[in-house]
Amino acid sequence: MTKFIDLGLSPKVMKAINDAGYDTPTPIQSEAIPHALEGRDILGIAQTGTGKTAGFTLPMIHKLARGRARARMPRSLVLAPTRELAAQVAENFEQYAKYVKLDMALLIGGVSFKEQDRLIDRGVDVLIATPGRLLDHFERGKLLLTGIEIMVVDEADRMLDMGFIPDIERIFKLTPFTRQTLFFSATMAPEISRITQEFLQNPKLVEVARQATTSENITQNVICFKAENRKSEPKKKRDLLRTIIAKEGEKLTNGIVFCNRKVDVDIVMKSLKKHGHSVGAIHGDLDQRYRMEVLAGFKNNDITLLVASDVAARGLDIPAVSHVFNFDVPIHAEDYVHRIGRTGRAGRKGWAFMLCLPHEIKHLDKIEELVKQSIPRLEFELQKAPKIINKERLKNTAKKDENKTNQKQPENKILKNTEPKNIDISKSEATSLTKDAQKDTKNPVKGLGEHVPAFLLR
Ligand code: AMP
Repeated sequence: MTKFIDLGLSPKVMKAINDAGYDTPTPIQSEAIPHALEGRDILGIAQTGTGKTAGFTLPMIHKLARGRARARMPRSLVLAPTRELAAQVAENFEQYAKYVKLDMALLIGGVSFKEQDRLIDRGVDVLIATPGRLLDHFERGKLLLTGIEIMVVDEADRMLDMGFIPDIERIFKLTPFTRQTLFFSATMAPEISRITQEFLQNPKLVEVARQATTSENITQNVICFKAENRKSEPKKKRDLLRTIIAKEGEKLTNGIVFCNRKVDVDIVMKSLKKHGHSVGAIHGDLDQRYRMEVLAGFKNNDITLLVASDVAARGLDIPAVSHVFNFDVPIHAEDYVHRIGRTGRAGRKGWAFMLCLPHEIKHLDKIEELVKQSIPRLEFELQKAPKIINKERLKNTAKKDENKTNQKQPENKILKNTEPKNIDISKSEATSLTKDAQKDTKNPVKGLGEHVPAFLLR
């Protein structure tokens, strides 16, 4: 595990870190700080609570310790969407810069211009501001942004929600092209992505989930299994995946299947499609337009399952999903936290399943070490998953729905013989049922009572 001492921060900054009582950097700090110290632009995808504020304030203090500010020409600028957040950033600067002489000013609404003008006139090393207030000062001719060496945009996604993006663009254009930019957002909505492409230069992408813990709303399971031989492993994995999907039934409203390799993303997507699932795929080799289309389909529920690689899914503004399937155990333990963090958001329940072959156990061990918990093992006997949706199963589902009480599933239950019964429908009959359901959306599907699953109407 990286230590603060390995990050290259100056003794004065280190002393303040010790005073704060931190012994190890958080993931975003250990990943971003060395690159920020080298002068690289950073694109940090991180939420509050990950330690991102120290992730940018510490290298800034280190770098700004040398040099002096000139009147009305701040040397660095931190933009935050709200007064509260700006004030929080200022507190961080005060805390970590206590052994370094740096002048700071906070430009937020509700504070008199006079006092703020006085500070700016004296010259500040760090200017922390909300975008509107900053532009007010600029328009009054009290401020020059041509001396900015480092600019931080914090919580860009909230800036977007609050309509600040045009202000941010304007401010970027008022600062020198040579500045270093540290840009943070919890998600990468298209508008934010566009700005980063325009204003960041070869940024180091750093993405972290909220701490290295996993949400309590997520029921996690791992299925450790063996295949007859190495060659049959991928097929057995695909069969197992379909079995689990079938077992989850209506609980699964939408899900992401993560694979470690792009080639497997394609294979798994094709396999699920062949077996009648509504599925799309995204990975880095796929054309951007196609990826956007797939994502749009997933967002508006036309596509139920999205098969993805880690890189392609990174930072995407994907809505909350009910299920995450780790088709492969991620090689980097951090990725596990990112992956399953796609479910169980905003207080909702989520389910995360992981398939683990013997050669992947070493990665599983690392994940458990990181999340500091053991992921419950699920004993899962492989049964042949239904190739496509069949009549009997739909009838059963409809009946179950009628009788459904709010029965709570015991968590981490050991599942055996989990496949739905009565799946021996002939292939041709089943195929025609699915095709008809897909084609004929005007005619109602008969025999299901009131309840017709959405996928049959598509
Ligand atoms: P932030 O994500 O920047 O809002 O930080 C969340 C909280 O984590 C703050 O209360 C920080 O004081 C704290 N924090 C930041 N870095 C560390 C660290 N390396 N170790 C422990 N706590 C930290």
